[in-house]
Amino acid sequence: MKRIEPLAKLIEHFKALPGIGSKTAVRLAYHVLDMEPEKARELAAAIVNAKEKIGYCSVCFNLSDENPCRICRADGRDKSVICVVEQPQDVDAVERMRDFHGVYHVLHGALSPLEGVGPENLRIKELLARMQDGVVKEVIMATNPNVEGEATAMYIARLLKPLGIKVTRIAHGLPVGGDLEYADEVTLSRAMENRIEL
Ligand SMILES: [Zn+2]
Repeated sequence: MKRIEPLAKLIEHFKALPGIGSKTAVRLAYHVLDMEPEKARELAAAIVNAKEKIGYCSVCFNLSDENPCRICRADGRDKSVICVVEQPQDVDAVERMRDFHGVYHVLHGALSPLEGVGPENLRIKELLARMQDGVVKEVIMATNPNVEGEATAMYIARLLKPLGIKVTRIAHGLPVGGDLEYADEVTLSRAMENRIEL
C-alpha cells in the first residue's frame, strides 16, 4: 500500500506524545480523519491556542495564562507560606485538597545527578529570590517522596535555614516512590498536616 503522507505524519506526531504507543497513535489518527472538519479544526486551534496563551508565572513558575498567576495575585492567599513542588500538575493536586491557603513555587523537576539535573536546571535561584523581602516565614517542601524528591528537599532546606526560614517536609501517608500528582486528597491533606521541620 502506498504511504499516505499526511496520515503518516499525523501518526508520527501522536506517537511522539507521552504514553501513546504505535497502535494508539494509529487509532487516534484515524479518529481525527473521521471527525467533522469543524471539530478537527477546533482541536488543532485548541493546541495552538494553549501553547500561545499559556506561559510561566514570573513569581511561582506555575503555568498560567496571566502573569502573575491568579494564585500569586489573590488577596486571600497567605504569602508567608510557600509550598514547593516539582511540577505544575502538583499544584493542581495540592489545590484539590482545598485546605492549603499559601502560595506555590514550581521547581520544574528534581535534583538528579544521574540524569544531569543540577540546581541550576531548577527554579531554585528564583525561590531564594522570593525570600528577600522578609514576607516568607515557612517553606513546605512537597517534592515527590522518592530519592530525587528527598534530595531536592534536603538541598533546598540547607539553603533556606540559614536565612531564618522554617523549612518543613510533608510527611507520612504518601506512598514512597510515588508521584504527588496521583495522591488522593485525604492522603495529601494528612501529609501536609503532619509535616515535619527539616
Ligand atoms: Zn504565580
